[in-house]
Amino acid sequence: MNKLKTIIDFIRSTFQEPTKFIPLHDPRFIGNEVKYMQECIESNFVSSVGEFVGRFEKMCTEYTGAQYAVAAMNGTSALHIALQLSGVQRDDEVITQALTFIATANAISYTGAYPVFLDVDKETMGLSPSAVEAWLAENVEMREMPTANSQQLTANSQQPTANSQRPMANGQQPFNKHTHRRISACVPMHTFGHPVKTDKLLEVLNHYNIPLIEDAAESIGSYYKGKHTGNFGKFGILSFNGNKIITTGGGGMILTDDEGLAKLAKHITTQAKVPHPWEYRHDMTGYNYRLTNIAAALGCAQMEKLDYLLQLKRDLADKYKEFFKDTEFKFFTEPENCKSNYWLNAIITKDRAQRDEILEFTNSRGVMTRPIWELMTRLPMFANCQTDSLENSKWLADRVVNLPSSAIVQGYRKNL
Ligand SMILES: *Cc1c(COP(=O)(O)O)cnc(C)c1O
Repeated sequence: MNKLKTIIDFIRSTFQEPTKFIPLHDPRFIGNEVKYMQECIESNFVSSVGEFVGRFEKMCTEYTGAQYAVAAMNGTSALHIALQLSGVQRDDEVITQALTFIATANAISYTGAYPVFLDVDKETMGLSPSAVEAWLAENVEMREMPTANSQQLTANSQQPTANSQRPMANGQQPFNKHTHRRISACVPMHTFGHPVKTDKLLEVLNHYNIPLIEDAAESIGSYYKGKHTGNFGKFGILSFNGNKIITTGGGGMILTDDEGLAKLAKHITTQAKVPHPWEYRHDMTGYNYRLTNIAAALGCAQMEKLDYLLQLKRDLADKYKEFFKDTEFKFFTEPENCKSNYWLNAIITKDRAQRDEILEFTNSRGVMTRPIWELMTRLPMFANCQTDSLENSKWLADRVVNLPSSAIVQGYRKNL
């Protein structure tokens, strides 16, 4: 128990919080949040119209390097739309990792596609390119698809089409030779802000003509080989939920380099209304997935402080790293070729029993810690999905403990 007491003492002294509850992650409002939200109220633009949405989108393109960014009401809806606009259709299969937050799998389910849950790498906790490669080699056959009558979307497409199919030039598409379903996307997730081995994954997916869609919900401010996560495939998505590094209360962002798809994403997230001075005309099944102007105002203020908050989070991770160096626990550090945002700090314990011992000890003493998510394949709605050995996923699920990770801003809300 003594070593666990030392951990608590370290966390409490680092957060300068001798007695009160220490959460896993909470937001920091240290800039223009109130000012911008007040501007919304005073201008009366609080909802679907207003300047902050466009400003927030622009800030996200500038920050991430994506050509286009389309705001959505949360990360889950952003991912749903990204999948749909990538051409994922009912009864397709979509590859993702078993070790992820439920939102990744739920978004796949919304499209009517079947998720396939593969293993992660131990060094990244994200989707393993070699697991994907092995599974594809065993299950895929390429089939020639007629391209003539398939709906090709172009940048200048005047007729937005839901569920657009975007076959590659040669018309070869990957099918699962056992289920006979088309494999229409792959969704890796950058766990806790640590990027997956993106180069290798892209190489594998390109070989099979499978579009990449990054669930970068946790990885704003994280880079793989100098490029911001969410920028490597057809789409990436970000989340601005209350527990992420910066927040809009609830919010998400769709990132893409494709102008036509960006326009379509804006259209479909705003009820697919055809622009007209007064008529209500809608040309496809749209969604009310837009972000409100109030939320976007909060987002603009938060973006202004992102770099500062990222630095504070790195400082905290460095302290944890130093502390755990002399213990039996392994502090999880950014993978090779990556710059991570250290959204949630994590340690690896010896086994599940030790993991549970730490969770019990810390949570009963006002220091919030959490295990990693239950594997998707262990949840009732995904129990029958295709999967592989999940060796690393199971190993990590037994051992990971997340530690308090909020940015430490001196004197912040001490009176709360
Ligand atoms: C936060 C998160 C999302 C999106 O969550 P929202 O609450 O809908 O913004 C999606 N995937 C992962 C892995 C996440 O952590």
